[in-house]
Amino acid sequence: MTDLARLVREIAAEMAGIPERGEVASYIAPLAAVDPSRFGLCVVTAEGEVHLAGDALEPFSIQSISKVFALTQALGKVGEALWQRVGREPSGTAFNSIVQLEREQGIPRNPFINAGALVVADVNLAGHAPRVAIGELLRFVRHLADDDGIAIDEPVARAEQATGFRNIALANYMKAFGNIRHPPELTLGVYFHQCAIAMNCLQLAMAGRYLMHGGLLQPGGARIVSSRRARRINALMLTCGHYDASGDFAFRVGLPGKSGVGGGILAIAPGRASIAVWSPGLNANGNSQIGTLALERLAEATGWSVFGAA
Ligand code: GLN
Repeated sequence: MTDLARLVREIAAEMAGIPERGEVASYIAPLAAVDPSRFGLCVVTAEGEVHLAGDALEPFSIQSISKVFALTQALGKVGEALWQRVGREPSGTAFNSIVQLEREQGIPRNPFINAGALVVADVNLAGHAPRVAIGELLRFVRHLADDDGIAIDEPVARAEQATGFRNIALANYMKAFGNIRHPPELTLGVYFHQCAIAMNCLQLAMAGRYLMHGGLLQPGGARIVSSRRARRINALMLTCGHYDASGDFAFRVGLPGKSGVGGGILAIAPGRASIAVWSPGLNANGNSQIGTLALERLAEATGWSVFGAA
């Protein structure tokens, strides 16, 4: 067994034994029902090695991790013009906060808070029926992961829709500033469905490969985005990927990362690895508690932090 294979197993074993695991998201029944003791980890290296541990093949709701793929898709459609409608600064507020929108004329701070992701969904909806827009995103994610089995969890999508009053408020508020171009319910439909994409750690780590390979699906493979765009998406993940805990995640882990309230995190060690971790219990900022700890251990042991070697 290689050192990395051993490390991945050791981290999974250590994480399994930790009793304090945070709180599972409870705003919708399908997420509240997930067992907090689950833990999955997958590391795909630049050389194409795949290391799995724990529940790495168990699908979970990727939730806000979908914002990375939706952003990539929107940049492909409108390019840098996207930045006229959404900012690139950390928000310093919770993922679903509305406060900053009044001050800043309906322009969300970044594409990874809910308000920003709604603008991104609105961009991806242009010229399409909602069903087609979400189908396009799903096809893109399947292509990235090289796995046609990835699907939307419809009960999760319906529950998001039935309870998403804050998101509905955000979309309507931005509509009042002209920064949502479609009927808000259509844009929200796209957003709720992208949140409901279910993936396992293997699929997620595979889907993140283009961000470790400077925009290529794999070395010598198809180009997904330019190397500059891959760098910039990584920069946004590092500065904004964990909401108002993005600074703490950079401090502890030191990698671009994007979390979701399903307890997943996608982290990228550029040129080295694409990593997916899943543990459903969340900390106070809505990020996976044990998932963050696992990434902290992994980054410390491998020296993969973008801020310098161990
Ligand atoms: N569906 C959730 C919401 O929109 C996603 C939030 C998240 O994963 N942080 O509130």
